[in-house]
Amino acid sequence: MTITCKSVWDACIKVIKDNIPAHAFKTWFEPIVPVRLEKDTLTIQVPSHFYYEWLEEHYINLLKKVIKKEIGPEGQLEYSIVMDNNQKDANPYTVKLPTSNKPDLKNAPISVPNSYNENQIKNPFVIPGLKKINIESNLNPAYTLENFVEGDCNRLARSAGYAVSKKPGGTAFNPLLIYGGVGLGKSHLAHAIGIGIKNQHPNKTVLYVASEKFAHQFIDALKNNSTNDFIHFYQMVDVLILDDVQFFSGKVKTQDVFFHIFNHLHQNGKQIILTSDKPPVELQGMEQRLLSRFKWGLSADLTLPDLETRIAILEKKMQYEGIELPRDVVEYLAFSINTNIREMEGAWNSLLAQASLNKKSITLELAKQMIDKFVKNTAREVSIDYIQKVVCDYFDLPLEMLKSKTRKREVVQARQISMYFSKKMTKSSLASIGQHCGGKDHATVLHACRTVLNLSETDKQFKVYLEDLEKKLTIQ
Ligand code: ADP
Ligand code: MG
Repeated sequence: MTITCKSVWDACIKVIKDNIPAHAFKTWFEPIVPVRLEKDTLTIQVPSHFYYEWLEEHYINLLKKVIKKEIGPEGQLEYSIVMDNNQKDANPYTVKLPTSNKPDLKNAPISVPNSYNENQIKNPFVIPGLKKINIESNLNPAYTLENFVEGDCNRLARSAGYAVSKKPGGTAFNPLLIYGGVGLGKSHLAHAIGIGIKNQHPNKTVLYVASEKFAHQFIDALKNNSTNDFIHFYQMVDVLILDDVQFFSGKVKTQDVFFHIFNHLHQNGKQIILTSDKPPVELQGMEQRLLSRFKWGLSADLTLPDLETRIAILEKKMQYEGIELPRDVVEYLAFSINTNIREMEGAWNSLLAQASLNKKSITLELAKQMIDKFVKNTAREVSIDYIQKVVCDYFDLPLEMLKSKTRKREVVQARQISMYFSKKMTKSSLASIGQHCGGKDHATVLHACRTVLNLSETDKQFKVYLEDLEKKLTIQ
């Protein structure tokens, strides 16, 4: 059977019909005519702009699902809209569906008193009557939870974020405070929770704001005598995400106004998500009453990801951007930059730029040259993690095996070699090396080092392994 726009749309319609009430189907889907299928894009004609908006607002997720099911992961939908009445003879015009992978992050309009003026209103509480306004969510669609790689470094924060996105305001994690050093993913995770909430609770009004912006808006409100409106505006949201709250340090009035907003939201079961570069106890210049509220919910930290998570983050990035880098380059990048993720991404971007500007292919050689410039002053010490990884790759063993208690000969050997190089190349104690290698004690590590030395003297093949590995581990 040949695939036509009609056959594809018929298949979509079948699924849609089973998933929505009959009257809704009759009203919104029966009038649709499929008009074109080009590559992976199906174009459907709808009777008016209003139809298009309604479909977008109410059925976007369902449409995305069926289109992808019928056309494949690259499937896209376009609308062709028949012009309303007076322009009957005009050609239908086409609107592109917001690319199918992007979540819809718009907030639905919310009702405010008629007198409300986003820039300046006198008193929002007095005048009766309602009108609708839109609050931009300010969420970055690239920062999703799926794109946020899980690791030991973020497990608690990530799973708390996940729980909050399912039940905003309905968990013990209110406020949820995510803290950690620069470039470790606080903003990413905060956006991801907001996006998760919008996906699962499209009617909730989510607002992401940087603390700095909040503080500036407040100063403007002070100047314009509109602090009431300012407070009222923030009190209207269902989910407030305030990024980098340490910026409020020493700003007494801003803290004061935030205190009122916080209380109102919290009392009304609204979700508050905060990020900070320090844990609450270390936030200087912050009022005690505010700090104590920060501690009401959950404070979860983000730490530096280990080597494997850093590699996974780069892999995720490659997948997202559709770029493929050689494995050894990815590992080298992840290994060399162990300050924070933003720096690692910076190095990655410079590497891509270098390669494309100089029309060179991305090789380990190029990566080494570039990174040496990039992290000139960072002393790089080989880590136990890295040693284990290189050894496992060399012997083609899974890393978990090396860290397990298994006594299989080839695993024992790889484990002993890892211990030997860890002793030789890192400053770690014997006990800590043992800990990393399946929870062994210091005596086992010493024994391993001796065994490796002995074998290297008696077994030629073994000696070759060691030399190979040493080369791999030595950074020129
Ligand atoms: P922070 O707000 O803590 O300074 P960001 O959220 O801006 O850090 O993160 C810096 C960069 O690192 C961003 O591009 C982000 O996407 C990326 N990043 C951080 N952690 C992760 C992770 N676990 N998975 C994927 N990307 C991450
Ligand atoms: Mg940030």
